[in-house]
Amino acid sequence: MSVSSGKYDVVIVGGGPAGASAAIHLASMGARVMIAEQKKFPRAKLCGEFISPECLEHFARLGVEERMLAAGGARLNETVFYSRNGSKVDVPSEWFGARRMALGLSRAEMDNNLLMRARETGAEVFEETQGTGLLIERGRVRGVRLKSSGEVFECTARIVVDATGREHALSRFFGDRANGHSRMTRRSRTLVAFKAHLENARGLANVCEIYFYRGGYGGLSRVENGLSNLCFIASARDVRACRSDAGRVMREVVMSNARARETLGDARPACEWLAVSLDGFGRRALAPACGLIAIGDAASFIDPFTGSGMLMALESGELAAQTIARWLAESFSDENPKMLAEDYSARYSQKFAARLRICALVRRAAFVPRLAEAMIFALGKSDAARRRLARATREGKRKK
Ligand SMILES: Cc1cc2nc3c(=O)[nH]c(=O)nc-3n(C[C@H](O)[C@H](O)[C@H](O)COP(=O)(O)OP(=O)(O)OC[C@H]3O[C@@H](n4cnc5c(N)ncnc54)[C@H](O)[C@@H]3O)c2cc1C
Repeated sequence: MSVSSGKYDVVIVGGGPAGASAAIHLASMGARVMIAEQKKFPRAKLCGEFISPECLEHFARLGVEERMLAAGGARLNETVFYSRNGSKVDVPSEWFGARRMALGLSRAEMDNNLLMRARETGAEVFEETQGTGLLIERGRVRGVRLKSSGEVFECTARIVVDATGREHALSRFFGDRANGHSRMTRRSRTLVAFKAHLENARGLANVCEIYFYRGGYGGLSRVENGLSNLCFIASARDVRACRSDAGRVMREVVMSNARARETLGDARPACEWLAVSLDGFGRRALAPACGLIAIGDAASFIDPFTGSGMLMALESGELAAQTIARWLAESFSDENPKMLAEDYSARYSQKFAARLRICALVRRAAFVPRLAEAMIFALGKSDAARRRLARATREGKRKK
């Protein structure tokens, strides 16, 4: 790897959808951009792999829509939420955005397509390269320390972007309470998430199915190669009771949901289970230090049942890119990085604060079966209420 110091306007650490989206937009606007990603792509990723309809509009702007649609994923026309005893409520994909469908596609495929596109637009992409520290001069972040094949490099940039997902590997050096923006609801290691691709799952082909049960929920939808993706969240207590055996958690916890018993009865994992513990939802510091901003899950982690985490990653990547490009174009901008932080934080709050608040409210019901039951019953009575709530957990303004 050769990284020349001072060569970049922007260094982005993390090559998931947020980092790749920011890089594509910035490189397309002429900025000198570098991405450091710790993994080698394509790589599997723990996720429901429900790519919401609005993401397809982002893909079009990013120049990857055609290849995403040609990648063999499933067209998902609706999401159906099932309470534990089998009552259900549906949310059609056509309520969200012009494409009128969502996509079921593995993160291995999706993230790889985005990272390839970042390279095509001129961003320099370094895989198997981990961001391990920040270069700080007189209180301002001036670059990053990177590690690749056991060697450590330093790389300077006018602005550094933390796109490392829930890890928030760079922002965490400043603590979650930096600049008073922390709104994380902590559930200290009380939840564990699992995911695997399954053979023989019996979910409907064009439907994303969500199952609620005590202490969590899970989602099943088709992806490429005739497989289905099952991704679920369970309480750490239930996981311990199943001796952390993912298959057992699926059978004993997820399949306490009546519909999940029908769809998962004969299912078999076609790959290793991935598992991760979740330690909180909501917002973190957006500009944790002078010269550093956070995007995607590093900025906020929205509840997975909304199926809109990837949307927020793409949107915040785009928002950060627009804000940074404007800042880079200002004369004397380097002397005033605070202006960038303030501009980004204000725009971010305007775009995302309301939906994060709504999700925090709905989350309370999602983890308690009787509340989830009541909510599904009530929402089943009114299309209008269902549509309003579903939209409130996602994009604020509908494009007509
Ligand atoms: C259980 C669960 C289910 C979900 N289901 C869905 C769903 O169905 N639909 C949806 O839209 N969203 C879903 N989400 C949310 C979605 O996965 C995230 O919102 C999205 O991945 C965020 O993108 P990101 O780019 O911010 O972070 P990530 O996708 O996490 O990407 C971060 C990247 O940074 C890299 N990285 C981390 N640390 C470093 C480092 N130090 N140096 C270099 N690289 C580093 C990682 O390897 C990774 O590639 C789900 C989340 C969970 C937990």
